[in-house]
Amino acid sequence: QNSLMWFRQDLRVADNPALVAACEYAKQHHSHVRALYIVSPLQWAQHDVAPIQIDYIERHVNLLAQSLAALGIALDVLHLQWFSDIPAALDEYLQQHNIHAVFAGSEPEINERRRDKLLIEQGIPLRLFDQDCVLAAGDVVNLSGDMYKVFTPFAKKWKSVASQKAIIPIAAPAPVAAALAQPEVITFDCVKRSSELWPAGEGAAKRLLDQFLANHVTDYHNERDFPALDGTSRLSPFLALGVISSRQCVAAVLARYPEALVDDTCPAKTWLNELIWREFYRHLLVAFPRLSMAHNFNELGDGIVWRNDLEEFQAWCEGKTGYPIVDAAMRQLNQTGWMHNRLRMVVASFLTKHLLVDWRWGERYFRQQLIDGDLAANNGGWQWSAGTGCDAQPYFRVFNPMTQSSKFDPDASFIKRYIPEIARWPLKDIHEPKSVNLHDLFASSNNQAYPKPIVEHKMARLRAVEVLSALKRG
Ligand code: FAD
Repeated sequence: QNSLMWFRQDLRVADNPALVAACEYAKQHHSHVRALYIVSPLQWAQHDVAPIQIDYIERHVNLLAQSLAALGIALDVLHLQWFSDIPAALDEYLQQHNIHAVFAGSEPEINERRRDKLLIEQGIPLRLFDQDCVLAAGDVVNLSGDMYKVFTPFAKKWKSVASQKAIIPIAAPAPVAAALAQPEVITFDCVKRSSELWPAGEGAAKRLLDQFLANHVTDYHNERDFPALDGTSRLSPFLALGVISSRQCVAAVLARYPEALVDDTCPAKTWLNELIWREFYRHLLVAFPRLSMAHNFNELGDGIVWRNDLEEFQAWCEGKTGYPIVDAAMRQLNQTGWMHNRLRMVVASFLTKHLLVDWRWGERYFRQQLIDGDLAANNGGWQWSAGTGCDAQPYFRVFNPMTQSSKFDPDASFIKRYIPEIARWPLKDIHEPKSVNLHDLFASSNNQAYPKPIVEHKMARLRAVEVLSALKRG
């Protein structure tokens, strides 16, 4: 009567209720615990999981195997191309290892939910734990019992429900057996891209959280919009894989600022709100499964006639739009697998509004590049930017890239880092790339041409407002 912990988007031993339950089950039955991770290359490719994120997962699965070995738990890795290959293979695996109970964290995405439902229907003894949010989907609802469609009342209710709960992370389980030998290196048979730029491991995530709370959280509301500053936590790659839980983050905030849930003047309020945005989008994914299927949240969005110009889309992907703030942001994404939140909003607005490219193209490209790719947050962010989403930015609000540039990268230090070929341009021209002569002048002097703007701002703004007025109610 052995038990199995099946790791998915919760690659951690601390604050992992499913893992603790798997250990308790084994203790009660005087049996053993095993652990499993399933690599699904074709399914991941269909989900557009970025090669850099796959590499990051691989590193974390190796670290997890080491932590588990210290607890006396062996981690197995199965390579199964598709989710649909799992039922038969898992059934065989359970029989082979005499496993009578499988423990795992639930996941909000539709294919993952369908996979788990099918497994349970087919008799796999799978027990799911809500551990990807502080409050489970369905626990933050309005008076009619429905999911909120506006963030502010959701956040208010979230805080009120959370303030009545003890938000205390669960410690890693005690060893269940003698420590195992150092596990062999696990290699995924997938397309990968090095994630070495990013630190890995539960310890690294915890240190980052502690440093952020000690040094930055109180200035977060002032600094978080400036990409040249180190003003945000950079915890998203860890949160996306569940290397750290949002409960660990919220508990750490509350340990320093016990008033954070009730006092609007608390210095940690703004950062806490971002963690609540994360939960908002995850709860939405569960309440509205169509979001996982790339449908517009607002069905009026189905009437938008996107331009979808391939060349312009390509220029956007490559950071060659001729708008330095947009291009620097895209180059940050392409080079590091991560992009600052302010810039995600700027480039998403530029693609969907200035170029009128369907938000699904941008969402997909982001997913293919991001180390923190997360369907809920990515879909939420894209639909917010395009105006098609739940509690989205109004369709007629078109970010002005020039204003965004001068306001949020005033000395252009971020832009210059990623577009060195324009570092010698006068500041004004970096922010307002309309003086076409400069392009030729400086291109010839350093031999690296920076493109002219691919679209004129005023015209693009008017065009966007007209086309996106399909979203106008009534
Ligand atoms: P911090 O500012 O320190 O915030 C802490 C945590 O809160 C983040 O790590 C993240 O988990 C969560 N968070 C912050 N802002 C948001 C938000 N707007 N929505 C949901 N959760 C949030 N975030 C992802 O994790 N994965 C994505 O694929 C993703 N795609 C996005 C696409 C677009 C178009 C936009 C506008 C935003 C997207 N975001 C995504 C949200 C946000 O940009 C990142 O979470 C943030 O930049 C991560 O940096 P950080 O860890 O330093 O965040």
